[in-house]
Amino acid sequence: MDEDIRLQQIFDQIIRLANADFQTQGTLSEKGDDLDSIIVGLNLLGEELESYTLKLRDSQEELRNTLAQLTEAQHLAHIGSWEWDIATNTVNWTEELYRIYGRRREDFESNFENFLACIHADDQDYVNAIIQNAYQKKEAFSFSHRISRPDGTEKIVDCKADIYLNRDGTLKRMTGTAQDVTDLRKAEEKIIRLAAIVESSRDAIISKTIGGSITSWNKQAELLFGYNEEEVLGKHISVLFPLDRLDEEEEILRQINQGMGLINYETERMKKDGSVIDVAVTISPVKDPSGKIIGISNILRDITDKKQAQERLIAYTQALEQKNKETEQFAYIASHDLQEPLRTITNYIGLFETDYKGKLDASADMYLKFITGASNRMKMLITDILEYTRIENDKSPVEVDCNVLVDEVINDMQLTITENNATVQVSSLPVITGYASSFKSLFQNLISNAIKFKKTDVQPIVNISARDDGKDWVFEVRDNGIGIEKQYFDKIFMIFQRLHARTEYQGSGIGLAHCKKIVDLRGGKIWVESEVGTGSSFYFSVPKKYVL
Ligand code: ADP
Repeated sequence: MDEDIRLQQIFDQIIRLANADFQTQGTLSEKGDDLDSIIVGLNLLGEELESYTLKLRDSQEELRNTLAQLTEAQHLAHIGSWEWDIATNTVNWTEELYRIYGRRREDFESNFENFLACIHADDQDYVNAIIQNAYQKKEAFSFSHRISRPDGTEKIVDCKADIYLNRDGTLKRMTGTAQDVTDLRKAEEKIIRLAAIVESSRDAIISKTIGGSITSWNKQAELLFGYNEEEVLGKHISVLFPLDRLDEEEEILRQINQGMGLINYETERMKKDGSVIDVAVTISPVKDPSGKIIGISNILRDITDKKQAQERLIAYTQALEQKNKETEQFAYIASHDLQEPLRTITNYIGLFETDYKGKLDASADMYLKFITGASNRMKMLITDILEYTRIENDKSPVEVDCNVLVDEVINDMQLTITENNATVQVSSLPVITGYASSFKSLFQNLISNAIKFKKTDVQPIVNISARDDGKDWVFEVRDNGIGIEKQYFDKIFMIFQRLHARTEYQGSGIGLAHCKKIVDLRGGKIWVESEVGTGSSFYFSVPKKYVL
């Protein structure tokens, strides 16, 4: 400003001197003085102009730098700006604004109509209405809208504009900014969505600082613990710990600091009313993008009902096991005690038969025969029941070589085998862990059935083998007997279930039930595959690992 005044003064002086009257008479020296003054003035003016020009150049340079910085700043902040000169209806866009709109200065004329065409079709009317309103009422405005870019992508921009008036109050120009907030909005939407998920979760979701101060508390946490958000925010997480669990937090922190979390860790927590609930907790570190742990998230699920159900189930199972034991014990004692009177009956029938058979009439002999038959069957039944009820679980299991065991069974059954002209073939069998006497009776039952249910006139052939099924050994006892109809495949394993009349095949219907019990107790399965008239294969599996 000072320079401007100084220049103006010099200029006025020169004009004044230049307008001096050189026509009027006077001495040359007088005129010469005036001329000198003009020359001095002009020199001064030249110097001033030179320094003025230099300063102007500096200012221009500074302006260029500022402009470059502004462009850079706009780019970094994703903010473009524009200026609309109303008189000339020209709109100037900054580089960043072109970039946001996906346009190029060379082929895009930045007037209002073209700007409007860049707006997302659904937003055009309302954007137009806002700007028209601002134009008419000469008011500043601010709003958000979407833009559709030539490459098919969409952006969301926040717009702000100011207005400038002429002295007469008419609108001179509008200037504004447009900030690309697409990423910001997407992140906001994501946060809102996540917050909604957290809020609607059926688990209590709580976050806390590494120091243990609660920083967030969802609706379910409120329902589960009875505290509302205001009551617990900022409080230490230990408000939820029963007294005897207070040292858990230290252990949890230790794990978190090692970058580990806890998954479905079952523990107890305390509600606002002091009652203690069973919970499954999942705890994980919350990390910032650089991997630094900045907090801890806790997801808690109320498992009180599940726990109670589990406890009830355990209690039922124990009660059931107890009842089973008692029943078996009862059956054992009953059948054991029955043996004594039965033995007396059988003895006396024997004596009676020796003394009186043939001495009484034919009917008496027939009655005697029935009584003898019935008492023999009863004896067999009682023996089978006693076998069935033998509980061996209190003994320790041992390694059982099935080759040796099956050999022993075959030896014991030699009489039956010879009587029936049967052949028993045995492949190589594995060594298993279990109770030898149980497995002996298992094989005995299966082999004796395989021989007993033979076809008439066909020599019985029994085949015993085993295969490795990964987790289990699967044994097979195959025969070429009468076979079983498919509909009875399950039924035959139930106690006292028989498919034939006693006159056809002797038996009590306990054998396979006994086999099933042995296999069940060992954690395996027993089943049959059979075809009537061809033969049957009885399979049973034995888990290689002894877990019971
Ligand atoms: P039991 O042999 O004393 O009758 P089980 O429980 O051993 O009783 O067998 C039940 C029924 O299953 C038998 O009565 C018989 O009908 C059928 N069964 C068992 N093993 C065989 C087999 N190898 N072939 C055909 N039927 C069989």
